[in-house]
Amino acid sequence: MKTNENSKSCLCGNGEYVVITCSGACDLGQISDLVARKLRDNKIRKMNCLAAVAADVKPTIEMFKEANLLLIDGCAVDCGKKILDKAGIENYKYLRITDLGYVKGQTPVTDEVITTVYDKVTIDYYR
Ligand code: SF4
Repeated sequence: MKTNENSKSCLCGNGEYVVITCSGACDLGQISDLVARKLRDNKIRKMNCLAAVAADVKPTIEMFKEANLLLIDGCAVDCGKKILDKAGIENYKYLRITDLGYVKGQTPVTDEVITTVYDKVTIDYYR
């Protein structure tokens, strides 16, 4: 059977400035995901896949080690941080949404919250 070589690597956004996120199921995970997509849509950072690191996709892991990488986790469970630590990825920028004062399970996913977190990211983690 012919294999698709592209299936072995991630075809999401590569580049010098990359954002990845836990994209968790809860409100703060959803906010982290939507903020990352807004960074991508506004061409601040390319968005890529944290799941590719968990799946041990080597080209993605190597690319992340070279990139200016920003990881956004929703809460103090720190899923994304633990995945990067296991893969040996260091020296990345890190934002945990709960550190901004938002409470897991009690934060409405509104344009106002997304814009507030996005503005914080673009000021503190622009480059
Ligand atoms: S860091 Fe928190 S919000 Fe994100 S996936 Fe893990 S438990 Fe969910």
